[in-house]
Amino acid sequence: MDNYSTLQPTTTREKLTILVIAPTPKIITQLTHSGIYSAHSTLATTVDDAIAALHDQIPQLIITEIEYDEILSFSHKLTMNLENGERPLLVCVTNTPDKELFEVADQIVAHSHLPYIDQIIDSLLRGTAKVKQAEQRCAKLEADNQKFHKEIVRLSKTSKELGLLKQAIVHSVGHELRTPMLQVKSAVALLKEDEGTNQTIIELAMGAITRLEGGIRNVTLLNELMSESLDRQSFMPVPIMQILEAALRNLGRSWEHRASASRVKVHVAPTATTVFCDRQRIIIALQLLLDNALKFSEGEVEINVTDADEFVILSVKDDGIGIPQDQIDLIFDAFYQVDSSSTRRYGGIGIGLAIVRLIMEQHETKVEVHSTERQGSSFTFALSAYDYMNSNNALST
Ligand code: ADP
Repeated sequence: MDNYSTLQPTTTREKLTILVIAPTPKIITQLTHSGIYSAHSTLATTVDDAIAALHDQIPQLIITEIEYDEILSFSHKLTMNLENGERPLLVCVTNTPDKELFEVADQIVAHSHLPYIDQIIDSLLRGTAKVKQAEQRCAKLEADNQKFHKEIVRLSKTSKELGLLKQAIVHSVGHELRTPMLQVKSAVALLKEDEGTNQTIIELAMGAITRLEGGIRNVTLLNELMSESLDRQSFMPVPIMQILEAALRNLGRSWEHRASASRVKVHVAPTATTVFCDRQRIIIALQLLLDNALKFSEGEVEINVTDADEFVILSVKDDGIGIPQDQIDLIFDAFYQVDSSSTRRYGGIGIGLAIVRLIMEQHETKVEVHSTERQGSSFTFALSAYDYMNSNNALST
C-alpha cells in the first residue's frame, strides 16, 4: 500500500469507511472536496494492496478506478476473503462498463460524474438502507408467518380433538341420559295422579322434563345424522304444504311453543308446490328453525315460500334479538351459543343448527343467514323443486 489518506467523518455519513482502489489519488481528492470524509478510509493503488488492506479492516464502501479485468478478479477475491461477512458496497468508476460489471458493481459512475460522487454515494446508501429495512421487515414477517403457522397447526390439532370429544359426547349422551330421564318422567306422572301433590310443582317438573327430553332427542338425532349418510332412495316428491303443516302441528303440540305457535304466519307463492327431499328431515329442519325464531323473538315469525327456476326457497324470519355478524358462521357448530346464558334464559343446548346444517348438506344445499342485532334474523334455504313433467331427473340424482 502506497498511500493512506485519513478522512474525517461527517454527520450524514457517520463512521463510513471507504477503501479506494485507484492508480492515482484523484478520487480521494474528489471525495475530500465533496465532503465524504472518513477517519478510517484507505487508498490502495493495486488489487493486491486492496486485498491486504481488507485483512486490517472491512470497509463499508469500495470505490475502484481500475481496469475492468482487475475489478472482476478483485470482486472474486473479495467474495472469497469475506466468507460469511457482510459484503461492502462496490462503486466502479469507468467510462466503459461491461455487462458483467453490472452484475458485480452496486453502482457504476462515469468519470464526468465524479464531481457528484457524494450525491451518488448518498443515494446509494439510502437505497441500501431501504433494502436492508425491507429485508429486516421480510425476515420479521417470515418469523411471524412461521409462528402463526405453528399456532394454526396447534389449533387445528386442538379443534380436531375437540371435534372427536364432541362426537363422543353426542354418542354417549343420547344413550346414557334417556333411561334415567324416562324413569323421572314416569315418577312425575305418577305423582300427578296423586291428589295431595302440589300441581304447580308438578307442572314445573313436567316443563323441565319436556325440555330435557327435547335436548336428548336432538342429541340422539345429531348422532344418527352424523353416523349415517342419507340414502337418496328416501327422497320423494313432497307437497310444500305438507311440510309446513307437519312442522306447525308439531310445534303447536310442543310444551314450550303451545302458546307462541300462533305467532307464525305463512306466505306461500302459488307456484311453489312440490319439493324433492327427505320429508321427515326437512320437517325437522324447519321445526328447529321455527323453534329458534320463536325462542329469540316476541313478534311475528314469518315463513315465506317462493320459487326460483328449479328451486323452491324457504325462509324463516323473525324480528328478535339478532346475531352478531362475526358469529353467524359459528352458530352452526355443535354446542355453540352466542350467549353463554342462552340455555338458562331460552332453553336449548346449541345443537339445533348443527342438525339443520347436516340435513342441508345431505340435501346438497345450505342455509343462508341474514341478521341484524336487535332487529331480527332470517334463515333461508333452497330445495329442488319437483317437476312432474320431468320426474326422471330428480329421481336419478
Ligand atoms: P340453541 O339450542 O341454543 O337454540 P341452535 O344450534 O339452534 O342452539 O342455535 C345456536 C345459537 O345460535 C343459539 O344459541 C343462538 O345464540 C343463535 N341463534 C339461532 N337462531 C337464532 C335466531 N333466530 N335469533 C337469534 N339467535 C339465534
